Amino acid sequence: MKQKIALLGSTGSIGCQTLDIVRRRPEEFEVTTLTAENRWEKLAEQAKEFKPDSVVIANEKHYKALSEALSNEPIKVYAGAAALEQVVAGGEVDTVVNALVGYAGMLPSLAAVKASKRLALANKESLVVAGNLIMSEAAKRNLPILPIDSEHSAIFQCLAGEVSAPRRVIVTASGGPFLRTPAEKLDKVTVAEALAHPNWSMGAKITIDSSTLVNKGFEVIEAHWLFGLRPDQIDVLVHPQSIVHSMVEFDDGAIKAQLGTPDMHLPIQYALRFPERGELGEDRLDFLKHPTLTFEPVDGERFPLLATAYDCLRRGGNSCCVMNGSNEEAVAAFLAGRIKYTDIARVIIGALERVDFVANPTVEDYAATNEASRQIARQIIAKC
Ligand code: NDP
Ligand code: MG
Repeated sequence: MKQKIALLGSTGSIGCQTLDIVRRRPEEFEVTTLTAENRWEKLAEQAKEFKPDSVVIANEKHYKALSEALSNEPIKVYAGAAALEQVVAGGEVDTVVNALVGYAGMLPSLAAVKASKRLALANKESLVVAGNLIMSEAAKRNLPILPIDSEHSAIFQCLAGEVSAPRRVIVTASGGPFLRTPAEKLDKVTVAEALAHPNWSMGAKITIDSSTLVNKGFEVIEAHWLFGLRPDQIDVLVHPQSIVHSMVEFDDGAIKAQLGTPDMHLPIQYALRFPERGELGEDRLDFLKHPTLTFEPVDGERFPLLATAYDCLRRGGNSCCVMNGSNEEAVAAFLAGRIKYTDIARVIIGALERVDFVANPTVEDYAATNEASRQIARQIIAKC
C-alpha cells in the first residue's frame, strides 16, 4: 500500500522538495492533495503531474483560473482557508505534510492531529502559536509528530533508539547573513542582503527570520513542545558551516550529533519514511572538504530576538502567539520596504508590551491574539 500524502504548501520551498521525494519513489508515495495560496499556475502544473484527488487554492480569487486550468482533469478544486482543514481530515489521507508558512498552518495542523493523521511538520509556527493544543491532541491519540525542520529532525534522529531522556539539546544556528555585521550597520541592511542566506535556500519569510534569529527562537519553542524540554535544557550555538544540524547531550556526558550537507531532502525523507532510511542522491558529506567545524555563542546585543523568544516561552500563555503574529507583520513590512531591518525587533517588542496576556488560551483566544498582535504591529509599523 502506498503512503497517501496531503501536501499543504506544495508550491513553496519545502513543498517542492517534498514532491522531489515523491517523484523519486512513486512505488511508495502517492499525493492526495496539493495546495497553494496564490501561485495557481504552478499548482495546476503540479496537479497535472501528480494527479491528486483534490487541490486547494487558499486565495479564493484564483479559484476560477485554477478550475479552468484543471477542467480536463478528474481533480476536485477547492478554495479558501477552511478547505485546508477539510482536506487533511479526509479518509484517504495517511500523512499530512504541513509546509505552509506562518499562522495559516496552525489550524490545519490541529485538524490533522484531531483526524488522527501522521503529521510531518515543517510549519514550526503551528507549535510556536499553539504547541500546547497540538501536542495534547497528539498525545491523546498516541500520534507521533515527525519534524521536518532540520534541527528537530537531527534531535529526533539522535534520540532514535534511546530509552534515557536527554539532559539537554544544542540547537545549532548558521548565524545568517549578518553574523559578522557590526551593530551600527544593521539599520541600513537591505532586503536583498537579508534574503541572501549563506547556506540554505528557503522561502522569503523564514530567510528573514533566520537573519534576525527569530527563526532560532521559534526553533527553541518548537523543541520545547516536540521533545518536552524545559527552556533551560535548550541551548543555541552558532555553527556557521551548517554541517552539524543539532546535538543531544545525555546524563553520562555523551553527546550525539547529526551531521550532513545542508539539504532539506534528508529531513523530509526521514519524516516520510520513519523509522527507515533510504538512498537519497549523491550529495554526501566529505569531512576533508569541511575540515573545520566551529561553534560560538550568539551575540545577544545584535540579535536580541532570540532572548525574546525564550522570554515568551517562559511566560507561556499567548506570548509566543503574539511574537509570531507581530513578527509576520514586521517581516512583511520589511520585505515591502516599509520599515528598516532593525524595526522588526521594535515592532515585536512593542506588540508584546501591548497585547493582553491570556494564561490558558483556547483556539479562539489564539485567533483573537493573532489578530490583535497584527493590528498593534501595524500601528507601530505606521509610526516607524
Ligand atoms: P514558502 O514561502 O517557500 O512556501 C509556503 C507555501 O505555503 C507556499 O505553497 C504558499 O503558497 C503557501 N502559503 C503561504 N501563505 C499561505 C496562506 N496564508 N494560506 C495558505 N497557503 C499559504 O515557505 P517554505 O517552504 O520556506 O517554508 C514552509 C514552512 O517550513 C515554514 O513554516 C518554514 O519556517 C518551515 N521551514 C522551511 C525550511 C526551508 O528550507 N524552506 C526549513 C525548515 C523549516 P504560494 O506558493 O501560492 O505563495
Ligand atoms: Mg531549521
